[in-house]
Amino acid sequence: MKHAPMHDDFSYQAFDALYESHFANRIALPRVRHVNIETHIAEIKNWSWVQVEEVGQSFSDRSIYLVTVGSGNTSLFAWSQMHGDESTATASIFDFLFMLNALPENERKACLDEVTFHFLPMLNPDGAEVNTRYNAQGIDINRDARNLQSPEGRLLHSLLNRFSPDYAFNLHDQSPYYGAGKRGKPAILSFLAPPMDAGRQCPPHRERAMALISHYVNRLTNLIPECMGRYDDTYSPIAFGDYATQSGASCILIESGAHDTSDKRELARRLNVWLLFQTLKWVNNTSTQYSTRAYLNLPQNAEDHMTDLLIKGVKVKAGSKMFSLDMAIDFQRHNTGCIRELGDLGDLAGFITIQASELAYQTGQVFNVVEPFTLSDSVYFSFLLRGVLFFHDPENVMEIQTCLPVLTLSQLNKDNNLPKRHKKQVNFLLCDECTVRYVVLHGRPYSLQESITPLFV
Ligand SMILES: [Zn+2]
Repeated sequence: MKHAPMHDDFSYQAFDALYESHFANRIALPRVRHVNIETHIAEIKNWSWVQVEEVGQSFSDRSIYLVTVGSGNTSLFAWSQMHGDESTATASIFDFLFMLNALPENERKACLDEVTFHFLPMLNPDGAEVNTRYNAQGIDINRDARNLQSPEGRLLHSLLNRFSPDYAFNLHDQSPYYGAGKRGKPAILSFLAPPMDAGRQCPPHRERAMALISHYVNRLTNLIPECMGRYDDTYSPIAFGDYATQSGASCILIESGAHDTSDKRELARRLNVWLLFQTLKWVNNTSTQYSTRAYLNLPQNAEDHMTDLLIKGVKVKAGSKMFSLDMAIDFQRHNTGCIRELGDLGDLAGFITIQASELAYQTGQVFNVVEPFTLSDSVYFSFLLRGVLFFHDPENVMEIQTCLPVLTLSQLNKDNNLPKRHKKQVNFLLCDECTVRYVVLHGRPYSLQESITPLFV
């Protein structure tokens, strides 16, 4: 690597270019499974500068691994994917290890001089296998810190006791719909220095966690302005972050969020890697000034502040009656789209917003297929412009040659031309006086200017 990550001039831009060219594609998001990490663990085992330990097994006997680097005085412990469907930080941990491995040995040593850094990527391999939050017993491991009924929870508990880490990093993914406050921006990253008691005391080790988060926030503020939030710090004795703070660690919860509708959290993933390098710098730099201000000034995370598609002020006609409303439609959470809310939605922000005060909601017409034809993108486009949204093809003679969703009669909206809250299968047209301007297929919007152009990524 040309620029060592510990150099003071190792800017985010330099990091990002390096990351993009060599490291970004080794693990595919959004889903990391046990088999994926086993491949990387097998490779990492061959590196002389790391120790790999099979440190336990999941309820269904999948191996859980610990990777330790450095042998310095400051002990750090990071675990990821205790919720099986939260893969982002697992990818970040491997990215970070691969980047360290690519460093010249003397620079890597300088990076790791002060630290003994333990990584536990994927605490919940059984959940990861079936893409669920819970372990194979149906237990939320992050609600098992007191009862310790899951083998994964017992393992994490015992490792926290074994390492007594100075810093503990509890790495998660959050819903894509969290806002960083209610300012119309998503929470790409959210933080918490968990409390150790109901009084939310702030002893020096918790203050140090807040100070390190403040350091992160200051480094990130130009990169993702107004896109960081702070979690509520109500004490939860059943959660592991709170237990880690209780046991004396400066514990930091990092939640990776979405920055657009693609929901692969790729930006949060690389920012996590950048933060791991920032953490090494922080630990190496003993003269760092403590300030908790940037953390405490973060806005509270706002649940469900974001929606995938916000349609503002669309006209709805029902018989002779007409009114206007806003529509919030989620398609990351529901594959065929779901109308989350209707009405005056001034409190919500959309990843995509359509100003629709000049547009009318239309359910679309049915085309009865009577002779064979090919539905290509351009033919589909001409149908949509004529207001056709559904195809009734009982003889199955229409040849579909488009990757776009094609709707059949069974998906026809039978709601008297009214959009309906909580309705799944969200398909309709938005029209002005003379033309169809947009189509929404499975909740996803497409512009119909010159062709069918998706408005989402
Ligand atoms: Zn989680």
